[in-house]
Order: sequence, then structure tokens, then C-alpha cells
Amino acid sequence: MSQTLNQSDVEIVYERLREAMPGRTPGAKGPKGQPDAFRSCVSCMLSAQSLDRNTAKAARELFVLAQTPEEMLALDERDIAEAIRPCGLYNMKARNIRAFCSALLEQHDGRVPDTREGLMALPGIGRKCADIVLSFTFGKDVIAVDTHVHRVCNRIGLTDAKTADKTAAQLEDRSPQWALHDGHFWLIQFGKRVCTARAPKCGSCPVSDLCLYYAATS
Ligand code: SF4
Repeated sequence: MSQTLNQSDVEIVYERLREAMPGRTPGAKGPKGQPDAFRSCVSCMLSAQSLDRNTAKAARELFVLAQTPEEMLALDERDIAEAIRPCGLYNMKARNIRAFCSALLEQHDGRVPDTREGLMALPGIGRKCADIVLSFTFGKDVIAVDTHVHRVCNRIGLTDAKTADKTAAQLEDRSPQWALHDGHFWLIQFGKRVCTARAPKCGSCPVSDLCLYYAATS
């Protein structure tokens, strides 16, 4: 049995999600509400294996101390680690943040690049962070894959991937062009409201007739 939907069903899934879920909010700020690309990148780095509220607390503490790559590098690594302690893995994240700032200044004159390749070449920035910054901060047509999007896509059968990065690559290949601008927003809201992690609301789901997970478990 195929582990993914055929291309025409992929289109139908997106059409139904577009009808049922809100899309991108025009003028919305970057990930976690950060106002610029630099802070969005740092905030993404802080969010690894951290709850949203702990990431937000760590970001607040850190951005009181420094808001630019230059200001960040002027801080001692221990001061950064202390400020971001709430989000966990703080020693490693503090090291990564300094390395990121250093590379940003050396290679890009302190300006965050607006390409995936450019972003992923910077220390501490993986595909998820790069795609989130591209989508939220630069407004590009990119479906960033977080834990909700990864779960939903692989349940429905839009993708058949074990990791979020592989889900992102498959989504890029399999999603229609028209769905790339808002796809992240439809999928994440769908994952939070309907296809939740522990108790998906399959009985009221608009794509249950297509969902491979539902077909296999009902
Ligand atoms: S049918 Fe259930 S598992 Fe499938 S997408 Fe809908 S809520 Fe998720």
C-alpha cells in the first residue's frame, strides 16, 4: 500500500484546509513575535527542545542585554548562558549564539541572509530555523515544518517521513505552488485544533475520508 496520497488527493487536502483554517496574517511579526531577522534566528535557536513559554522567557531576558550581533558578541558566554537558562541546553545554545553572531558579522556584515542556503551555512541554524525565518520574517513561500506540521503531514499522507527535515523536503516536492504561501499556517492550526497529538478529532475532521492514518486505525 502506498504510504502517501496521490497528487490529486494532496491538492484536495490543501483545498479543504484552506477552507477550514486561517492562513498567514498580513503584517504579522516574525517567529515568537520577534521584530527582525536577527532576533528571529536567535529565538529559533533558543526554541530547540524547549516549551514556548520557556523560550519566550529566555528570549526576553537575552534581548534586554543585547539586540544586535555586535551587542551579543560583547557579552561573555556565561552571561548569555545565564540569561537563557529557562530554555534549557543553555551552555550549548550560548556557544551557538556567539558562533552565529560571529559568522554573521564576518560573512554578511551583520545582516541575516534571505536564502535557505545562506541561513543554513550559519552555525546553529538548521532547516527548520531557516524555513521559519524565511517564511515569517522574509515572507517567502516556504512551508516551515515544526512538530505539529510534521505530525499532521505524516498522518494524513501528504508525506511519509521520519524526521521534520525530510517532511519539509517532501512537502516542497509534493505541495502545489499555490499552497506554499499559507500552507504552514493551515497545517499548524489544523494540528493544534483538530489533528492534535494525543486525541485527534477524527470524527469532525474535514479530511478524514482521505487520511491514511484514519483509514488504518478506524
Ligand atoms: S482523520 Fe484524524 S488523524 Fe487523520 S487528519 Fe483528521 S484528525 Fe488527523
